[in-house]
Amino acid sequence: MPLSPDQKAEIDAQRAQSHSTLRATAAGMEQHLYTAYPVLDHGFVRVIDYMGDDAAIVQAARVSYGAGTKHVQNDEGLIRYLMRHWHSTPFEMCELKLHVKLPVFVARQWIRHRTANVNEYSARYSILDREFYIPAPDMLAAQSTTNNQGRGAALEGEEAQRVLRILTEDAMRCYDHYEGMISQEGQQGLARELARMNLPANIYTQWYWKVDLHNLLHFLRLRADAHAQYEIRVYAEEICRLVADWVPYAYKAFEDYRMGGANLSAPALECVRRMLKGEVVTQETSGMSKGEWREFEGVMNGPA
Ligand SMILES: Cc1cc2nc3c(=O)[nH]c(=O)nc-3n(C[C@H](O)[C@H](O)[C@H](O)COP(=O)(O)OP(=O)(O)OC[C@H]3O[C@@H](n4cnc5c(N)ncnc54)[C@H](O)[C@@H]3O)c2cc1C
Repeated sequence: MPLSPDQKAEIDAQRAQSHSTLRATAAGMEQHLYTAYPVLDHGFVRVIDYMGDDAAIVQAARVSYGAGTKHVQNDEGLIRYLMRHWHSTPFEMCELKLHVKLPVFVARQWIRHRTANVNEYSARYSILDREFYIPAPDMLAAQSTTNNQGRGAALEGEEAQRVLRILTEDAMRCYDHYEGMISQEGQQGLARELARMNLPANIYTQWYWKVDLHNLLHFLRLRADAHAQYEIRVYAEEICRLVADWVPYAYKAFEDYRMGGANLSAPALECVRRMLKGEVVTQETSGMSKGEWREFEGVMNGPA
């Protein structure tokens, strides 16, 4: 359970209030505001605030005086044109602010995306909760034999049980020591900023994360992708769902041109042209390395 009853009550109270504004709002996003959507075993994603909608992208692109939406089809077409031609700054006019609760090892991957504004829960000031990410049994996978940066089939039987036991016991023992060190009962109590150093990377942290739509889509392109680690991918997929409701035209263009599209190198494009003319092209005659050819075949054959 990621939220305490008090936290739930705070969110309900916030959702019960409404404010009138002259600013544009996105009906699709209003329904999600403040709600915590669970991710992993103790994590969540929730929208704290947002600015702009599809019309704001159009308005910025046209530098117009009005709301932007005059002809719905033109607006969608313009957004698709902007996405197709990497005209990115109109997408930067929309902003999203999220509250995210996530394991520290996921946060380390996430924070590499430098084009966002972050404020993290302070473990110098506050005591961390006893909450650790323990993978579901089907996510407890073996090291991949083909990809050093990936995982293979799920661990089975006694090995799976032993790994789960180790993860749980280590987390609990470290937290017991953490509590023991910071306790001020009968001792001075170690500073929180020092005591936290023995906590494992599967402990949960929280942050507020604000980013513009252009850089958010870049994040989602990389982290909702099948190559991303499962534990960050599930957060990205949850955010994709929110973005699809917030800016439906922009999200559809993103799905079509970024997530579902592919970049072809000049040699790869030349191969496609030769194939269309009926030539049988192989890796040896393609001018591409084995790795490039493998990836090219992946693009041409589609998902397995
Ligand atoms: C599948 C996967 C595997 C990865 N493996 C590793 C790994 O093994 N080791 C590792 O260290 N990282 C790894 N990363 C992280 C990756 O290298 C990037 O750091 C991360 O994805 C952030 O991307 P970004 O820099 O484009 O994003 P952002 O920091 O959000 O930047 C967005 C864009 O802004 C521009 N930009 C931002 N800051 C600068 C700057 N200072 N100078 C110039 N341009 C800038 C760039 O165009 C950049 O693409 C991996 C990422 C993925 C998705």
